[in-house]
Amino acid sequence: MSANDPGAGEESSGTDGAQTTDSADTTDHADATADGNTIGDADVEDRPGVKARGEVVRLVVTGAGGRMGAEVIEAAVDREDVEVVLAVNRSETAAVAGVEVELADHFADRLAAVEADVLVDFTGPASAVDYAEICADEGVAFVTGTTGFSDAELDSVRDASDEVPVLKAANFSRGIAALRRAVREAVAAVPGYDVELTETHHNGKRDAPSGTANTLLEDVEDVRTDLDERVHGREGEAPRTETEIGVHARRAGDVTGEHEVLLAGNDEVLELTHRAGDRGVFAAGALDAAVWLTGREPGWYGFDDVVDS
Ligand code: NAD
Repeated sequence: MSANDPGAGEESSGTDGAQTTDSADTTDHADATADGNTIGDADVEDRPGVKARGEVVRLVVTGAGGRMGAEVIEAAVDREDVEVVLAVNRSETAAVAGVEVELADHFADRLAAVEADVLVDFTGPASAVDYAEICADEGVAFVTGTTGFSDAELDSVRDASDEVPVLKAANFSRGIAALRRAVREAVAAVPGYDVELTETHHNGKRDAPSGTANTLLEDVEDVRTDLDERVHGREGEAPRTETEIGVHARRAGDVTGEHEVLLAGNDEVLELTHRAGDRGVFAAGALDAAVWLTGREPGWYGFDDVVDS
């Protein structure tokens, strides 16, 4: 494992290194079983280190000064099942909801000192890789909502799942989990229809299309194997072909996140849309994931495992 100090790492926050196939939040790599047990189920309780029902999960937040990290802390202080025992940010940040945010230097030592159960990460891909490695070394479960991973970065995060439970989700909204299922069903029901995906996010988002958009695209492509080309925006002479999916990323204002899948053909149009009204949606999902992941077997998990449990 690397001795990287994530506190000294990336220059820019958010979704650095945005070449990405970052999307699949499936459990294909897990030798662990996403068995749907909740904390407190008998066989889960029997595993060493697993919290008994009602015990408070000791939580670390990285990227605590960012939009999502701060939301996670604010949501955590309102819950009784989690306690933030360490919150770090790369740059100096004021306390969030009364929780002190520290600089991320010498993070591995500090993580070991707080005896954490699980770390929730919303930083950037390179930092998330470093935090995953440290969690693997320290035996701490790792939840990341960071998007924009390159294939190599994603592989590194997956490596950590050999040692500890790792849950990665490009979107922690239960509504998006439902949208993904609806899209798969709808696409299967209208073979041959044109498919266009549009996503809108705030003007500070770095990666495009969003990790959630990539996940939805994979869902569509899994069902519609005849669609083999993603066309990102169109300009000039650009007639549509039958095998393409149009992909459109809008960046404006403070939009939390909107995703729309449009299916059209045979004189009808079907639009499946999700709008996140507030980042608290993602924070709540990330905390549900953190509680669910605590004490699981090492392995690679997705938010669907949490939703299905
Ligand atoms: P942001 O830029 O507001 O926050 C990122 C924070 O991480 C910054 O405060 C930055 O200083 C900090 N940071 C960067 N490197 C660090 C390091 N090594 N150690 C500690 N702190 C570090 O970005 P954001 O809007 O909060 O988004 C963060 C990530 O989460 C992005 O990849 C975004 O796409 C993703 N996101 C995911 C979901 C989801 O549901 N999965 C929802 C929203 C955003």
